[in-house]
Amino acid sequence: MRHPIIMGNWKMNGSLTANAALLDALLPVVEGLGSIEIVICPPFPYLSQAGSRLRRNGIALGAQTLSEYGAGAYTGEVSAAMLKDLGCRYVLVGHSERRSLNGERDSDIAQQLAAAKAEGLVPVLCVGESLEERQGGETRAVVGRQIEAVIDALGIDSMLGSVVAYEPVWAIGTGETASPEQAQEVHAYIRGLVARRSAVIAERLPLLYGGSVKADNAAALFAQPDIDGGLVGGASLDAAAFCRICRAA
Ligand code: PGA
Repeated sequence: MRHPIIMGNWKMNGSLTANAALLDALLPVVEGLGSIEIVICPPFPYLSQAGSRLRRNGIALGAQTLSEYGAGAYTGEVSAAMLKDLGCRYVLVGHSERRSLNGERDSDIAQQLAAAKAEGLVPVLCVGESLEERQGGETRAVVGRQIEAVIDALGIDSMLGSVVAYEPVWAIGTGETASPEQAQEVHAYIRGLVARRSAVIAERLPLLYGGSVKADNAAALFAQPDIDGGLVGGASLDAAAFCRICRAA
């Protein structure tokens, strides 16, 4: 009942010219992969550029973050309503780079998730432990805290229509991927955690893995029973690699 989702997170990369070339190479190949949901998350300034191309190809548009606030005096912020206006269907919340570089806390992330849902966007809640936390045996505690902070603030229904992405910080952009077994173990833990509040919501919740997903490790990751797709950073900037990852799903 959960269909695969592959998201490309371009992070702070691209230009009008480079994006056009990437989309030209990507779109004709991935548009035929009808049974999976493919999502591209460009930087804010390029949402319109990508969105106008994606709409014609059945690929969804996503943003990399959003403000927890509505309209008003929030210089530099982008609201959920604006993302909706530009055609976004998805938005990442709590990416580890936002947590570490922008000081986003669990409580901020819960409010962002609420703002996204209020506009009918699909929030993709990103969670994951650092290397030190993994080595200290704290993976479950950290990931559990990050998810329960949202559920405690907003209720378990906040997970209905949301996506969770498990992205171990030590695997992001490092070339080091969690093994399929390591990733599955955490994904099963996350699903179990949600199931304690609602078995139905847990069963429906798409759980994506992120952290150095590549063309040659994607199939083994996606074959795991609780891994429903991937959140792909670096490899989403390479059309051939991203196409292979999409096919692996
Ligand atoms: P990566 O990034 O694929 O480059 O490791 C993943 C992410 O941060 O979403």
